[in-house]
Amino acid sequence: MRSVKQLDEEEAAFLARPHKYQYLQDDARKIWAEAQKASGANREDRWAQLAQQTVLKPDPNPKGETRPIGAEIIAALRRHLANLQGTRCCYCRRWLQNIAHARPVEHILSRDDYPQFSLHYRNLALACRDCNQQKTNKNWTTLDKTAAAYPLPAEAGDYFHPRLPVFDGHIRYVRVETNDAAIAIYQGLTAQGRQLCRDHLKKISQVDALFKNNRQLSGAIERLQAAGDNPEEAEMVKLNEFVGALHEAIYRIAGG
Ligand SMILES: [Zn+2]
Repeated sequence: MRSVKQLDEEEAAFLARPHKYQYLQDDARKIWAEAQKASGANREDRWAQLAQQTVLKPDPNPKGETRPIGAEIIAALRRHLANLQGTRCCYCRRWLQNIAHARPVEHILSRDDYPQFSLHYRNLALACRDCNQQKTNKNWTTLDKTAAAYPLPAEAGDYFHPRLPVFDGHIRYVRVETNDAAIAIYQGLTAQGRQLCRDHLKKISQVDALFKNNRQLSGAIERLQAAGDNPEEAEMVKLNEFVGALHEAIYRIAGG
């Protein structure tokens, strides 16, 4: 289990560099802190709002141009979390692809149920697209939805929280990949690990097997995801909807 001290150090490391440019670090820190505080105090989901936040570029700026500082803070957070997680998904431990939409930020306690933690540092992790879509806003905890304080590592309960415990202490896995097939077996070692296997990883390994063991399908999805790196906004939405629908269909085949 990670200690509170370790979690605080991880957060301090993010806050030391919440923006890629040195001259914007102070602004980014202030914007992050204000949004985080408002989210907690008002029980308000501030994630989407932060993603849209802009600031005026410095003078001279006769046209009043802005820069998307909120999205840039989220990009810095994504880089920080990828580094912390060894570039692997927080749930299934597969490698994360180096495309923003293929490594979504996962809100461990969902934004729907726990809006007050929408920007809580310990509530954020990087998941792969499969895990993020599969978990959606499922609530695995019994934590009071009006809780003001984020649970400490010792209070996490009997569900797997990817930021508080250490994965290896809870789950063992074997992943074998050959030229044309893939198989992943997950085994829970603790109550929390068994919960994640039962409620989540079992499905993920079935989906993985269906994708990877069908070369045409997995090849098509990889091409679609790679093509989604830099398209126009509207195309991106359509592409995401299509890949999402395809994943949904696969989940149904996988039994649920
Ligand atoms: Zn995953």
